[in-house]
Amino acid sequence: MERSKQKQMNQDENETDAAINGHFDGRVKIPGWSAVGGGGAAGSQSSTVPSSSVMESWREERTRSLEDNEISLPSIAAAYTNILKGLGEDPQRQGLLKTPWRAATAMQFFTKGYQEKIIDVLNDAIFDEDHDEMVIVKDIDMFSMCEHHLVPIFGRVHIGYLPNKRVLGLSKLARIVEIYSRRLQVQERLTKQIAVAITEALKPAGVGVVIEATHMCMVMRGVQKMNSKTMTSTMLGVFREDPKTRDEFLPLIRS
Ligand SMILES: [Zn+2]
Repeated sequence: MERSKQKQMNQDENETDAAINGHFDGRVKIPGWSAVGGGGAAGSQSSTVPSSSVMESWREERTRSLEDNEISLPSIAAAYTNILKGLGEDPQRQGLLKTPWRAATAMQFFTKGYQEKIIDVLNDAIFDEDHDEMVIVKDIDMFSMCEHHLVPIFGRVHIGYLPNKRVLGLSKLARIVEIYSRRLQVQERLTKQIAVAITEALKPAGVGVVIEATHMCMVMRGVQKMNSKTMTSTMLGVFREDPKTRDEFLPLIRS
């Protein structure tokens, strides 16, 4: 299992698979992922310094409240009724009577990240500690929705950072992942947003975020195999500049 995953990861590094993954806005590459340490230009896309728009995004206000959910539920349900009709179904048949409401409620849940702000999660969660060893959190479950097809993306997030006295609890890292993933996403942006949020919050020496995910929109169209994973990474600070730090991080999340 581990072997086949690794194989896929390496495959994702070559041009052909990057083209298949052209689903994304940018090219998907893992800097320094292969033990041999690929080309020097590898990862230039995913490890660029975060743009100011991404920097700003973690401070932004929530765009939806619970009240908004209540108000918009009927119109979302009505839209689902239209979708059912458009698909050639009869929304009045027994099995579908409650479907528009269920689907609307489910969609609001799947996108509940819009109801939260990262900054609220971080309040009171950052601790000053005399700790300068690399912190690694592996296998954080992630469920998201592809913004191009509104179909699930799911997988795992691995996070590493080199603290500069400030640390964040594991559950808070998982909450950051949850808030950003429960929005309409592309995998590359999700990866970057998590890395930037940790950077902003902790001002660490460096951060590495790797996401391995399955995109149902690609699996169900036959573009991606069910068991293959799309890999994205963002490396900031020493994770980006120092190959030794990356070489310490990447095997730890693989093992
Ligand atoms: Zn998609």
